Amino acid sequence: MKTALVTGGGSGIGAAVAHRLRSDGLRVATIDLNAGEEKYSYTADVTDRAAVDAALDKIRTELGPVTVLVNAAGLERFKRFVDLTFADWQKVVDVNLNGVFHCVQATLPDMIEAGWGRIVNISSSSTHSGQPFMAPYVAAKSAVNGLTKSLALEYGPNGVTVNAVPPGFIDTPMLRKAEERGFLGDTQKQIDATPVRRIGRPEDIAAACSFLISEDAGYITGQILGVNGGRNT
Ligand code: NAD
Repeated sequence: MKTALVTGGGSGIGAAVAHRLRSDGLRVATIDLNAGEEKYSYTADVTDRAAVDAALDKIRTELGPVTVLVNAAGLERFKRFVDLTFADWQKVVDVNLNGVFHCVQATLPDMIEAGWGRIVNISSSSTHSGQPFMAPYVAAKSAVNGLTKSLALEYGPNGVTVNAVPPGFIDTPMLRKAEERGFLGDTQKQIDATPVRRIGRPEDIAAACSFLISEDAGYITGQILGVNGGRNT
């Protein structure tokens, strides 16, 4: 039985991934700013390495070494580029990119030791063609895609695969908040622009993660697997 860590597991996509991996028979721990109700849900900020390490100490004691990592913690900040403060920029990069750095670096030794591991980074389909008012987010998520490819080359020889899943338009609290604040435009127009003609579900992303962490996906690494209903592919 393998132990998985899902970041951002308290909401939306991360919560769906955690649920799916539990159903797949893994031992699952989550970390989030707001821990969920499930057992082995820990409160930790992914940008705070000491907090990540402290949560991992507990997880390793309770569930054993972590050989599966899904990085789903993330946040958006919609602003015109000229209105961004450097603090805005740093915050978005810190959570979406540096948080991935911390969680990968903190768990990779377990995977190397086991000679087996799976990492899935949730990036964003906005990296495909960019997105106005989301420059730091798109920059950070693009860097996550690049990090994914480099890590895949570096740790393939250790039995660790590293892939990214850039979601399209997925119905989560993050998306609904952006909609409420008027940043998404007309939701129906977004759906009409999506070839499969529906909004994505967190479970769509969870299904891709479930596959990418499976034994069957052992020959797939360094890939950016868009789950987006055919948009931005
Ligand atoms: P969400 O807001 O529902 O969930 C994100 C979770 O990350 C929250 O529970 C939040 O508390 C947690 N989080 C934020 N900052 C954190 C930090 N510093 N430390 C620990 N946890 C932190 O959003 P979601 O839509 O489920 O997003 C999940 C991932 O998918 C994110 O990385 C997001 O960028 C990405 N994504 C979402 C969509 C979409 O349409 N919903 C599209 C593309 C990419």
